[in-house]
Amino acid sequence: MSKALLVLLVLFLGWTLWKKRRRERQQGQTPQDAARAGSGSDAQAPGPINAEAMLPCACCGLHVPAGEALLDKGLAFCSADHLRRGRASRG
Ligand SMILES: [Zn+2]
Repeated sequence: MSKALLVLLVLFLGWTLWKKRRRERQQGQTPQDAARAGSGSDAQAPGPINAEAMLPCACCGLHVPAGEALLDKGLAFCSADHLRRGRASRG
């Protein structure tokens, strides 16, 4: 009798854990993880998010990823049009 209960308990625990893991994977992050990241003292917590440097466009101020920004004389621009405008405004 008690052995059957134990088996049922183990099966239930395994199923609960499996369900929890699957939900966490679907959501990507658990609320507990988010709270820990927010209250943690570490400025940069390791995570799956690929943090790329954002550069402000010298023309309109729009922040664009460093990889997509157009650079001219140390200034970043969001598009070729703004690069041209930035050049024109500086002569
Ligand atoms: Zn711009």
